Order: sequence, then structure tokens, then C-alpha cells
Amino acid sequence: MWTVKVVGLGVVAFSSLELIVWLLRRLRPERPRNEVLFFPSELACVEHLYTLPPSAAPSASAAPSHSCLCSLPHGVETSFSRFLRHVLSASSSLDLCVFAFSNMDLSRAVLVLHSRGVTVRVLSDKNYIAITGTQIGVLRKAGICVRSNGNSVHMHHKFAVVDGRLLLTGSLNWTLNAVQNNMENILITEEPDLVRPFIKEFCRLWEHSDPVRRHKPAARVDAGTQG
Ligand SMILES: [Zn+2]
Repeated sequence: MWTVKVVGLGVVAFSSLELIVWLLRRLRPERPRNEVLFFPSELACVEHLYTLPPSAAPSASAAPSHSCLCSLPHGVETSFSRFLRHVLSASSSLDLCVFAFSNMDLSRAVLVLHSRGVTVRVLSDKNYIAITGTQIGVLRKAGICVRSNGNSVHMHHKFAVVDGRLLLTGSLNWTLNAVQNNMENILITEEPDLVRPFIKEFCRLWEHSDPVRRHKPAARVDAGTQG
């Protein structure tokens, strides 16, 4: 009898504890999403990520049901797959400010977003844009708005803002070499105090890179032109 009472009390205590934990989780305000990624990334297939709905992209299971026959490992989460998930999570806008952009997987991701109706704006370095292998021409041909800096100072940023709320920034250029061979870092955050200045800086650089503004007198500047 004594044993039954002890077990019974234990069950009640455990259930109460679970209930308290559950209540605390419900009551606690949702914390901003933060993540740090380091590169070089392991190689793995990312094919399945392009067909995930935007809302599922950052948190979906690492083990997809796939029919891909490529030779890369499948169902493996890597730094690059995490990064790609965050890029593909855009549902309304992607503002990208990157010095070098030649990575075909990331280019495909940007094209997918564009085809979904996501507003994509790309700022890149004017010297890098002309380099062999750059994806900037591909993006422009698809109708994506691309602008470059007009002065002698390098546009050396590597950051992206997803839906005006998620910042991806760090040392990583959007190149295959950076992803697979270099030691790089990426910080991903939803902290408004960090995201806000990047949005402000992007808008400043975007306006500053307006080709109409660069080539016409200030009085004739028009908004909404494509670079
Ligand atoms: Zn595959």
C-alpha cells in the first residue's frame, strides 16, 4: 500500500511538473530566431529544399522524402543547407548586398524566389559584376533588379535581409569556393536592433546606386528605376 501511494504521488508530481513546463513554454514570449553557421560546409544534396513551402524552409525536417538520384549524400543537414533554407524562407522580399555572387545553388534559390513573386533586390560590386562565372547577368536576364556601386570604393558587404525581419550576415561571399573551401562565418538573426540598421544601410546604398541618380542632375531623379 505504501509503495502504491509513493508511486501515485510520483505520477501526480511528474504530471504537475510537465504541466508547469508546458504552461511556461506557452506563456514565454517567442524568442527571435538566431543561428550561427560556420564554413566550409559538408557536401550534401539540397535539391529537396527548392520545393519546400517558404514557411517550412528554416525548420523542416533534415530527412526529406526525395527521389533525387545524384551522388551526393541525402537527408544530411549542413551549414549550406541551413543557409539555403533561410534564403528560401523569403515570402515577400529578399534584399541582397553581396560582393561576389557566383554560386549556382544560391542563384537558383534567388530565381525560385523571383518566380514565386518575392521582390528581390540585389546590390553587387561594379567590378565583380563583370567577372567570369558571376550570376549577376543570369539574375538580370530573369528580370531581377540589380544595382552596383558607382564609386571607386568596393561594395564589400555580404548580407541579406529576408522579408524585412531576418538578417543573414558574415564573411561568406555567395560563391562555391567560399561555401566549400573557405573558413567563413554567417550570423542569422531576427533581433530587431540588429536587423534594422542593415535595412537602413541597404536602402541608403540602393538609393545611392540608382543609375538615374548617378547619371542625371539631382533635380531629375526619378524613383523606381532598374539598374
Ligand atoms: Zn540529390
